Amino acid sequence: STGADFVVVANRLPVDLERLPDGTERWRHSPGGLVTALEPFLRARKGAWVGWPGIADADVAPFEDGDLRLHPVSLSSDEFRDYYEGFSNATLWPLYHDVVATPVFDRTWWDVYVRVNQRFAEATASVAAEGATIWVQDYQLQLVPAMLRDLRPDLRIGFFLHIPFPPVELFMQLPWRTQIVRGLLGADLVGFHRPGGAQNFLWLARRLAGFQPTKGSVGVRNRPGVVQVGDRPVRVGAFPISIDSSSLDQLAASEESARRAAQLRADLGNPRRILLGVDRLDYTKGIDLRLHAFRELLAEERVDASDTVMVQLATPSRERLEHYKKMREEIEREVGRINGEFSRLGRPAVHYLHSSIDRKDLVAFYCAADVMVVTPVRDGMNLVCKEYVACRNDLGGALVLSEFAGAAAELTSAFLVNPHDLEGVKDALEAALNIDPAEGRRRMRALRRQVLNHDVDRWARSFLEALGAQPNR
Ligand code: UDP
Repeated sequence: STGADFVVVANRLPVDLERLPDGTERWRHSPGGLVTALEPFLRARKGAWVGWPGIADADVAPFEDGDLRLHPVSLSSDEFRDYYEGFSNATLWPLYHDVVATPVFDRTWWDVYVRVNQRFAEATASVAAEGATIWVQDYQLQLVPAMLRDLRPDLRIGFFLHIPFPPVELFMQLPWRTQIVRGLLGADLVGFHRPGGAQNFLWLARRLAGFQPTKGSVGVRNRPGVVQVGDRPVRVGAFPISIDSSSLDQLAASEESARRAAQLRADLGNPRRILLGVDRLDYTKGIDLRLHAFRELLAEERVDASDTVMVQLATPSRERLEHYKKMREEIEREVGRINGEFSRLGRPAVHYLHSSIDRKDLVAFYCAADVMVVTPVRDGMNLVCKEYVACRNDLGGALVLSEFAGAAAELTSAFLVNPHDLEGVKDALEAALNIDPAEGRRRMRALRRQVLNHDVDRWARSFLEALGAQPNR
């Protein structure tokens, strides 16, 4: 078959392979914001997606899903452990999130990361048409741009990092820092969420690889930085990602959502106020900090457990890693402590669910929540807070948001907090719980203007335009 004109390369395919108890395998769609945003581009342009199918030791041939071509990259279970759980999630993830957990530097993991990145690059080279546009996604694949350029100098290559890019002092700890910077410099365009990430990368490109940024380069969206790598300009800029705002807005406005939200409130005993947290169970999310703040508000009788409940939805994540096990234990101990001190029979103060929930239920939770609490100590963007805002076409609800989420730069009408400042978080929660309705509507209107005008489609278009990839074709 002929090659693809547009190829997305990501750790995961947009479908998951499932292995059933009887040993048979089947595909299941895994809808995420990125898939939704990129599907129209992929389908319009003879697109292909290169990624891992979600289970180790599965050797799957390329196949078509409608007019989208899927190219699975296989990983052995050892490679999954070393490349994914190890280097990606126990080295890069904590390093890039301000070392809130201590990164592990393991030479074997690095070797496997290199080998797996090479495999992704080769798979991509084999599916791309002459002169195709390639969009490589995220921290698991930072070596792919340079590896791919070596194999296929004809390609136009973009890279986007979905997590924060760290301060240079932290990045410099990485024993393989130069290789990573050179890997990224294989792209024609390197995108980050925040201008600060772009600036850090420009500094490192000079310091570690010796490439001088063009004079006046600043790396913001309208003025991307440029590094001249030999005869090749590499552009570096900020492109804050978003959500499929209008579809959530519509879903939330449906009668079914209103019914589900009312049912949820009833299930919770029709409290006067509901606080909501929705996170992957990750140590970057500050779940412990918000529980601590809630406990002190109850203890100081600034919040009354007889009329206010907190709901914390925690999606299971990376459960084999030590940091995650420890974090889970700490959070569950704190939930138990709060409930032990402040619940009454049949009326827990905190409802904690360690499970993943589907989109319709999630929308109902957003619609039912009086205060959405988003307190990461570091988060590249945080989509949950944008989803909450998109769901509140009733202009109800209030958002408490950490300054250390990328989204804080856009959602300036939220109650912005430093999550480490316990008293500040408590004051913000109390203010949000007792907000004057007119003031609440004013803030929510401003938040919604931002989220509805800057959706994920606009993000993808602006990146592809900067890459010179004619997104409107
Ligand atoms: N989410 C979900 N099911 C759940 C909880 C969350 O599908 O049970 C989704 C949520 O709607 C959001 C995403 O997971 O789109 C989380 O993205 P975010 O950027 O907030 O955090 P991440 O998990 O990527 O660090």
